Amino acid sequence: MRRLLVALTATALTLAGTGVAAHAAPAPGGPGVGDSYFPDYGNSGYDVSHYDVRLRYTPATDLLTGTTTILATAEQDLSRFNLDFVLDVSSVLVNNRPATFARQGDHELVVTPARPVSDGGAMTIVVRYSGVPSTKVAAGFTAWIRTPDGAMAIGEPEIAWWWYPSNDHPTDKATFDVSISVPDGVEAISNGVMPRPPVRETLGYTRWSWRSLKPQAAYLTFMTVGQYDVTTDTTASGRPVYNAYSRLMTQELREAAQASVERTAEITDWETTLFGPYPFEARGGVVAPPDTLCCALENQTRPNYSTRFFTRGSNTSVVVHENAHQWFGDSVSVADWRHIWLNEGFATYAEWLWSERNDEGTAQEIFDYLYATSPPDAPIWTTAPADPGVAQLFGDAVYDRGAMTLHQLRLAVGDDDFFEILRAWAAEHRYGNATTEQFTGLAEKISGEDLGALFEAWLSTPSKPVVATTLARTAPAAPKSWAQISRTHSLLHQH
Ligand SMILES: [Zn+2]
Repeated sequence: MRRLLVALTATALTLAGTGVAAHAAPAPGGPGVGDSYFPDYGNSGYDVSHYDVRLRYTPATDLLTGTTTILATAEQDLSRFNLDFVLDVSSVLVNNRPATFARQGDHELVVTPARPVSDGGAMTIVVRYSGVPSTKVAAGFTAWIRTPDGAMAIGEPEIAWWWYPSNDHPTDKATFDVSISVPDGVEAISNGVMPRPPVRETLGYTRWSWRSLKPQAAYLTFMTVGQYDVTTDTTASGRPVYNAYSRLMTQELREAAQASVERTAEITDWETTLFGPYPFEARGGVVAPPDTLCCALENQTRPNYSTRFFTRGSNTSVVVHENAHQWFGDSVSVADWRHIWLNEGFATYAEWLWSERNDEGTAQEIFDYLYATSPPDAPIWTTAPADPGVAQLFGDAVYDRGAMTLHQLRLAVGDDDFFEILRAWAAEHRYGNATTEQFTGLAEKISGEDLGALFEAWLSTPSKPVVATTLARTAPAAPKSWAQISRTHSLLHQH
């Protein structure tokens, strides 16, 4: 403490001589980033650049032990800071010195370094921990899923809390190394590429290593452990593809799942023609054991799918949807969770474009069908996509009305400007975060048109907008793709 006082006095004297205001005393970082829907998600006061998540997991006991090393930079003179985490912490080091730590609320870990960290200073944070994630309840539930042969950490927006300490908000992205030691003969899958093949450790355990080279949001980082068949391939452009299929699937499910997910490289190459270059270093998909995962999630480079998408045969709509999120959601992420339609409306519209491409119904036909069959009091109209609220975060308005908004934009500005807007959006905010206002601004800039009334009616008004086409007033037949698209969405909504 004395040394600190001397240092501060010397700084104050130096600054006084130059006329620069002295630093304020180091202050605590905040317990949230101020998200309008989830105010205590993420933390303020620092920015993470990299996570090294090194784990051991034993399926029989659900015991997870690990060490996560976080590289971060202080964004203020920092006396203490929070991480989001629920497992049992045994020690925390900050810049190689033991830090004190305490729990606050149901998912906050408050860390006080031995010495304050000055604004702009580097922090190496090492957290050692263990726990049985399936026993930990936070935000009223347990996101960790135990399966008959392992476990999975897949969820939105909450999942990181149950397996690694983080700054859990999409506005603080980082690169990742995830390595998981599991019993020999068990597979452990995560995002990105495999920098090395699985390595046998002692005592009957094998370590699997995965690396994400591009900025990645905490909730898009996943792990799944169990009995999986892993298939590897390269895209036509030579990029790695890793897919994984639970061995607990029946033969019928397995074939339907493979007939869908093995087309990931083809589908993402097609999406590249619409949205611009694929943003990440690897591609793929993981299909979970039956009756475990409810839905699907666009985990970065490698979406995870429930087998429920494949119970009626192949389903490329869900593969198109989750991979469109690689551009819209994963690379361009929400700046605040209320902008969620920028993820789901875009991914849904990609399904409509896929239907159009395969002659199974144009986007216009899907729009007309949806418009005609949704009565004025349906939730799709009574919820404004631009601010759906937490309860409707994954509701129809965000998905279907979000896609309808994009279709109205396409009609207003024409195909050339519309696809230029999508590509510019993906390029300008690549690896970053964005808002609805930034999107509507970009659409007006590229088209040169005043689109205020269109976006007001489609995004911000909780009632059914009027459309001028006669088709929309009749009851058109369902496009061929509709059964698959609507079933896919009824499953996706069960978050
Ligand atoms: Zn989605």
